[in-house]
Amino acid sequence: MIPEIDVRGCIAKKKTEGTLSFSFDADGALLDIPYVGFSSPVSAELAYRICEDDAVEVRGSIAFSLAGACSRCLSEAQARITGEVEGVFVPGTGDGEAYGYRGGKVSLAELLRDSVMFALPARLLCTACSEWEKE
Ligand SMILES: [Zn+2]
Repeated sequence: MIPEIDVRGCIAKKKTEGTLSFSFDADGALLDIPYVGFSSPVSAELAYRICEDDAVEVRGSIAFSLAGACSRCLSEAQARITGEVEGVFVPGTGDGEAYGYRGGKVSLAELLRDSVMFALPARLLCTACSEWEKE
């Protein structure tokens, strides 16, 4: 499950920073490498900071595994992928640079979806093929 950041609740408790650690199932539709799928949930380690103007900065990292057929030779292949998470949420509607949030709560789903998409490799190679490509 992807948690929410209860900005209002944090401010009421005078808490302006926190960390979140959780895992969730990625949307398989994000992945467009043929014959490859997510083989683990996505684990996320995030830190957030609530600024004076109620903007919320979120940063951290995600990790997940892919498994399926090698994009070159179709042998079994797997990889552990890590990626960065970085986003700013502003009250109301977001713009091109910041995500928006409403009702005093930040939903991390869209940021995580974007972070997973950004971390995804263009293809998956088996051990033999990645060795071969290095030479
Ligand atoms: Zn291969």
